[in-house]
Formats: sequence, C-alpha cells, structure tokens
Amino acid sequence: MQLQSYIGGAWHSGRGALVAMRDATTGEIVAEASSAGIDFAAALRHARQLGGPALRALTFHERAALLKALAKRLTECKEEFYALSYRTGATRSDSWIDIDGGIGTLFAFAGKGGRELPNARLYLDGAVEGLSKAGTFAGQHIYVSREGAAVHINAFNFPVWGMLEKLAPALLAGMPAIVKPATATAYLTELVVHRIVESGILPAGALQLVCGGLGDLFEHLNCQDFVSFTGSADTAARLRAHPNVIRHSVPFIAETDSLNSSILAPDAAPGTAEFDLFVKEVAREMTVKAGQKCTAIRKVLVPAAAAGDVIAALRAALGKVIVGDPRAEGVGMGPLASLQQRVEVRARIAELRGEADLVVGNPDAFEVRGADRQRGAFVPPVLLLCREPQTARALHATEAFGPVATVAAYRDVEDAIALARRGAGSLVASVFSADDDLAGRFVRGLAPYHGRILVVNRHCAHESTGHGSPLAALVHGGPGRAGGGEELGGVRGVLRYMQRTAVQGSPDTLTVAGGRWVRGGRLRDPGRHPFRIPFNDLELGDTLKSAERAVTVEDIERFAALTGDTFYAHLSETEAARNPLFGGRVAHGYFLISAAAGLFVDPAYGPVLGNYGLNELRFVKPVKPGDRIKVRLTCAEKNLRADKGWGEVAWDAQITNQRDETVASYQVLTMVSIHAVPDAHAT
Ligand code: NDP
Repeated sequence: MQLQSYIGGAWHSGRGALVAMRDATTGEIVAEASSAGIDFAAALRHARQLGGPALRALTFHERAALLKALAKRLTECKEEFYALSYRTGATRSDSWIDIDGGIGTLFAFAGKGGRELPNARLYLDGAVEGLSKAGTFAGQHIYVSREGAAVHINAFNFPVWGMLEKLAPALLAGMPAIVKPATATAYLTELVVHRIVESGILPAGALQLVCGGLGDLFEHLNCQDFVSFTGSADTAARLRAHPNVIRHSVPFIAETDSLNSSILAPDAAPGTAEFDLFVKEVAREMTVKAGQKCTAIRKVLVPAAAAGDVIAALRAALGKVIVGDPRAEGVGMGPLASLQQRVEVRARIAELRGEADLVVGNPDAFEVRGADRQRGAFVPPVLLLCREPQTARALHATEAFGPVATVAAYRDVEDAIALARRGAGSLVASVFSADDDLAGRFVRGLAPYHGRILVVNRHCAHESTGHGSPLAALVHGGPGRAGGGEELGGVRGVLRYMQRTAVQGSPDTLTVAGGRWVRGGRLRDPGRHPFRIPFNDLELGDTLKSAERAVTVEDIERFAALTGDTFYAHLSETEAARNPLFGGRVAHGYFLISAAAGLFVDPAYGPVLGNYGLNELRFVKPVKPGDRIKVRLTCAEKNLRADKGWGEVAWDAQITNQRDETVASYQVLTMVSIHAVPDAHAT
C-alpha cells in the first residue's frame, strides 16, 4: 500500500524513493510513503486562500458543530481504525487512548466551543480597560483568527489523538491545518484522514495531509502561519531555529521529550492506600503504549526507607504483564512502534545502566507471546534502581522512550522536589500523598518546572484520570526540556491559534468593533420595553430607564423577615453605626437587585424566557433608608443559540441613587426567544 498525501483537495501518491513502514510485531511492510513532488507553497496557498476564509466565515458555534459532526462520523469508523492500529504495536486498550481519546478530544472541544465561546467570529478578552477620566476613550483586547495555515507535526506514538488534539483547537479558532504525521505510523493517520475527507464535513482547504517529509514547506511560512510540533527536542530545536520561522516570528509551540517524575510522599508508607495506588500507577504508566508516552513516568522517586518495598511491589505487578503480539489473547503490552525505536530504547537503557542497576526485567532475556521476539520491536518492562540520584546525570537527562523507569531514593521532601526539578522542565509530575499540607508543599515546589501536577490520594483515586493522560480541558505542555509549549487547556488552546489585538477608541467604536456594548456608549431607545423585543430585533445599546423608588426601613425589615438575613448592619441602627463601612443602617444588597428587577421587568408573556444568572455583581455604595433608587438596563451582548430557537442576552444593569451615584453594577443574563410570542413546542 502506498500512502497518499491529501493536498490541494486531491490525493497524491509520492514520487521517487519510498520510505517503508513496518508492522511493529511482525516486521512486514505495511505501507510506503513519499511526499516528493508535492508543491508545498501551493499547499499553504490552498489553506490560506480556501480553507481559512471558509472557516473564518463560520462562527465559533458553527465550527464547534463541525467538530461534533466529525467526532460522530469517526466514531462510526472506529473499528476499522482499531484493526489497523494493531500494526503500530498497540494493544486494544492502547488504541483506546489513541482512537477514542482522539475522538473524545474532538467532542470535548465541540462542547467547549458551543458553551464557552460566543456565537461570533471574534473573541473578547477580558473587560474594557478604562483609559480616560471622562470615559470617552477606552481599550478592549480582541482575538481574531490568524489568516495563515496551522502546520501540525506529530509524533509516531499517537497517530490519531496526536492529529485530533491539535486539529480541534485549530479548526475552532478558524485556522486550516496541514498535518504531517510521523512516518512510522502515518498509515493510521492517513486512514482517518481518508474518512474525514469522504465525510465532506470540513470545508475545502480546512485539512491537508502530508505523508512523508515536509520538503521546503518551512521556506514558505509567513507571520500568519503557526507551527505546532510534537517529537524530539533535537528536531524541535532545529525547526524552531529555521531562518524563516525566526524572520517572520512564526509562532512555534513544541511538546518534546520529558523526564516525568512520580513521587511517593513520605506519609505514603507501605500498607497505605496511597502506596498501593502509586505502585499501580507506575506499573500502568510503564506498560501502557509500551511506555511510549511523552507523559510516562521515567523517575520513580521514593523515600529511601520505602525503596525495597516499592521495587518488590513493582516486580510483582510488572511480572503479570504478558508481552507479545497485541492481537494475541492475554497480551498486556505490545512491541514498540518500530525496530528503530527498539535500537534507541536499548541504547538509552545501556546509558542509564551506567549509574543504575537493573532490578526488574532484562532486555536480553524475556518471553514474547504469539510473535517472534527478534522480528518485532519488543522490549520488556525494565525497572532500574539509581545508585546515587543526587549526583546522577542520565537519570535526569536520558529518556528511554519505552517501558522503562528508574527508581531513585530521596532523603526528604526538599530533596524529592529537587530531583524532580532536575528534569529541567517536564510535562507532568504526580504525587501520592494523603497529607494535604505535604501535597501543597510538593505542588508549590514542582509547579515552576512542570506543566501539570497530579496529586492522588485515596479520596480521588477512583475518579482520577491518571498521571499520563493529557485532558482537553487542561493545558498539556511543559517548560524547558518539555518544549516550552502548551496545547489543549480548553478555550486557552483555541486562543493560542488566534491573534490578540488591543483596540483603543471611543465606547461606540469599541461596541461596533467588538460586538459588545461598552459603558459610555450610545443608549438607544427602542420605542418599547426591551423585554418585548425578540432576540433578532434587539440591538446592542437598546435601553430601559426605570422609574424611581424609595427604599424604606419597612422594606429592609420585610426583606430580612422574608429571607432570614438579619445581619446587624440592616437591622440595628446602633451596631451599624459602629461599622466603619456603613456608619448607619443599610439596605441588603440582594434587596437592591431584587427591587431593581421589580423596576425593570416587563411581566407579560413574551420573548424573555428566563434569567440564568448575574455576572460581575458589585455593590458599590451603601443604600440607606430614605434613598431613592432607579436602574438602567442596556442590551450589552447577544449570543444566538441557533439550534435552540433562543439566544442569550446579557444586559448591563446599573442601579443609581437620587444623586446619580452608582450603588450597584452587574450584568443580568437572560434567554430570549427569537419569537415575539414563543410557542412552547418551538423552544
Ligand atoms: P522526531 O523529532 O524525529 O520526529 C517527530 C516529528 O517530526 C515526525 O513527524 C518527524 O517526521 C518530524 N520531523 C523530523 N525531522 C523533521 C524535519 N526536518 N522537518 C519537518 N519535520 C520533521 O522524533 P521521533 O518521532 O523519531 O522520536 C524520537 C524521540 O522523540 C523519541 O524516542 C522520544 O524520545 C521523543 N518523543 C517525544 C514525544 C513527545 O510527545 N514529547 C513523542 C514522540 C517521541 P518523520 O517521522 O517523517 O521523520
């Protein structure tokens, strides 16, 4: 089978010398690939001129809907992916992480896009920044889609997840992608891309695939493009120093090899639940994907007194793992992805053995089920014990990208933290402890050197997602050696693909530019109560100015009696007088917002369906008996939920007193039907 690249809307078979990909278990050739003959400048143009505009024409919600449709379609094809995935050396459960994990990431971003991003093409970052005394000049940060292509260079270990975890945030951000999978397992990525293309779900130009090298693509990158890389630190260093990347300041994020630690805290002695959880997690991390995970545990840091027990327990756990053909019954760990990787891993084990002793497993003598040990890329689980971790070098620098970990004994908490930090920047560290004070010390000590920290105790273990699992909602990446990049992290991951721009101008200009009404901007009189206006007819700035009402002692006392909130500042004149903030009795803040609702609501049946919360509520000035309050309510933000028949409307509310001083300020969040008189069945 010759792999094809999908470029410029057509499938291409490469010319010239082909690179062979082999079944990790049998060594048979699975596929061959070459990207020779691809016009990479044209591929970038295709993405920029076709894919980008098509994606940018859609709102975040519409792009999220594409991701969801894609996730559903790929779910239907899953078994086909699983069948081919065996050839990469993955067991069924390894493939679950790659295939279901990848599809799950698409679903997660679809959900985030629909819920946490607006139904718009532009994202507002934070509040308006007041820049002037009179309020006629202000600033607002906006995020807009970059107008280039996202170039995704992926590692061999996750041919499906690796593509989808980068693709989801890029597409949501409105950026088309050119995906380059690692050649060793590109046949599985290619199959998935075939199914994506056949589905017709993505607009033309949104996704291109390169099987083989990237040719001269880097020569054609410009400042609107974006590179996201996963793989070795050496390749990352080479690519990020490409003259064109430097000249055009092309954003480049990397996720590279990393020496991740798992720490058994001093309180987690043998016999505790945390000790058992630790052993289970280390054994699992060593063997899942045959240890070929960028997040896998490489340094097993344990109190010196517990080292013997930890090794004995790991020996027992790893002894149960059957190595062999991932298709064979009972096999818990398959081969590495390629014979090349076996050579690499064996060489790294040899390096580590310079300062550590083999305590479990022997790369030269082990059983393999259902396969030829020499033909497949097999390595058994290998555990080493470092002789002097404090002075060791390889322990902190050599990553054997396979089922290999090294136990290192630490002296005290500070020493454990120092040993973990010697990785010079890692993707993840985990701590097993039932002592939250101790866990807090570890977190504070580890955080500057780690992208993610997992703390496991008996209370969260049964729901913990584990040391090695990057999650769509949390950032994935790490400082220093881990590449210095960040992927995922929910909306953070999407915004990374966008350009943040500070816009300055008058409130009216900012309202139009950003799509959110800005205080100080024009107040429109819509000629009727804004609660009578269906969603699509409401305009930003549509305002209601309420009548005034007095606040009396009776109001305060009745509110206290009704709610049970009898705080002294509301009910006792003498005690309230001693309060330095109030100097006398004041109305409840909650009474004010309730009274304001009484002033602004239009009670009749109509397009406003409900109120789902308040944002940014601040009680700015106390209201005393005898004060008179009124409220201004302005349509500030609209967000259509197209599939639901209504939209969210945020109303800017400002309660003022008889001196026109603001006493409370907030946003009222409502759901407003697109129909003047909503029909129960339509919404
Ligand atoms: P590489 O860095 O060699 O490859 C990673 C990706 O970069 C592949 O897609 C590769 O393509 C591509 N690539 C390599 N050279 C270039 C280039 N000049 N221009 C453009 N793209 C390029 O890493 P490997 O996959 O070989 O893995 C090596 C080591 O990296 C592992 O042993 C492990 O230590 C570490 N690693 C770390 C991972 C992580 O997630 N942090 C994941 C996987 C590996 P091609 O395959 O065609 O060469």
